[in-house]
Amino acid sequence: MSKVLVIGAGGVGTVVVHKMAGLPDVFSEIMLASRTKSKCDDIAAQIGGNRVKTAQVDADNVPELIDLINSFKPDLVVNVALPYQDLTIMDACLETGVSYLDTANYEPKDEAKFEYKWQWAYQDKFKNAGLTAILGCGFDPGVTSVFTAYAAKHHFDEIHYLDIVDCNAGDHGKAFATNFNPEINIREVTQKGKYWENGQWVYTEPHEIHKPLNYPEIGPKESYLIYHEELESLVKNFPTLKRARFWMTFGQEYLTHLRVIQNIGMAGIEPVMYNGVEIVPIQFLKAVLPNPGDLGENYKGWTSIGCRIRGIKDGKEKTYYVYNNCSHEVAYKETGTQAVSYTTGVPCMIGAMMYLKGTWKKPGVYNVEEFNPDPFMEQLNNHGLPWVEKHNVDLEL
Ligand code: NDP
Repeated sequence: MSKVLVIGAGGVGTVVVHKMAGLPDVFSEIMLASRTKSKCDDIAAQIGGNRVKTAQVDADNVPELIDLINSFKPDLVVNVALPYQDLTIMDACLETGVSYLDTANYEPKDEAKFEYKWQWAYQDKFKNAGLTAILGCGFDPGVTSVFTAYAAKHHFDEIHYLDIVDCNAGDHGKAFATNFNPEINIREVTQKGKYWENGQWVYTEPHEIHKPLNYPEIGPKESYLIYHEELESLVKNFPTLKRARFWMTFGQEYLTHLRVIQNIGMAGIEPVMYNGVEIVPIQFLKAVLPNPGDLGENYKGWTSIGCRIRGIKDGKEKTYYVYNNCSHEVAYKETGTQAVSYTTGVPCMIGAMMYLKGTWKKPGVYNVEEFNPDPFMEQLNNHGLPWVEKHNVDLEL
């Protein structure tokens, strides 16, 4: 019997509470809180059965968070608001003595730079308080990190080369839309590329390195080397890695729109004055772009995300590919959201389950690859994200 407080009523939050509501033995009481309470109420109504309580909260405001946590008294706070709120929610958790889980690392609003250093700095505070903070428990980071830990544990003596490959081969029928929060998404994909090689970071221009990669059941898709946050913790936690990279597919149409958005200054994060009012271009852009949570209805096709790994087993070189394919249509039928929200929300629910069952519980701040991957992998198969393994195949990389 446990109580969970979920903060953030977007696409990911919708999936998280749908999935939790179906598991009353694990999540006996659920509260969904967000900036706009009506969004929480709509999600709770879709789920029905009075399974989900709702509340309004400004997660930038620590005293407000403390009041909410003290009034509901959850065993765990799940943060699926935005990365900007990570530290205030962690502060409120420390203040109220509750453990914490999120899906994206902290990023200051005024600097497009996501790094774990701010959250890793909470290590002693969580440890001394006897509380657990689980960082990055979506798909990537999240499942990709657990895939890597599982490969290292079961299939290799040493992993040397890691390529995380993220393909969205779905079509939502819009000229341009982002699959999760537009502000966070555009900040992520427009920054310089970066990968790990021989003990140091190598920098590239945005989208400079690309090549076609074949994705299972999908075929070849042009894939672009970008920096992604799990690389930072994976190279720290798996020091045998000689190289670690992240690849994401983008369509030509998407890249053209992105280039225009950047060239005309609409991706800017510095405020500008308009008619006497200060506005941040990228926040205004978010207001006019399609809401990622509404893309599901017409979304067709698959996502395919996995890890391609090369290393040594019993003195011999071997390759290994582990991945999940997820259908936008199936995700929509189950939860009313597209596969990007689904593939993030399901692992987030599983991470919460791991904590509440005591399987992933140790005082301190941890990335998901630092826990036992086996029970998490088992639950992926049970809750809609089955995975496939291939041994000694051509990794193309
Ligand atoms: P959305 O923008 O759809 O939802 C974010 C929600 O957070 C909204 O309901 C928003 O409220 C709420 N919110 C924002 N600011 C505050 C605040 N100050 N106080 C309270 N609530 C607030 O985003 P997504 O659902 O697409 O993404 C959620 C998170 O998941 C993000 O952090 C994203 O980076 C992460 N993510 C992780 C992935 C992974 O694989 N690890 C993949 C995809 C996303 P309002 O409705 O009022 O705007």
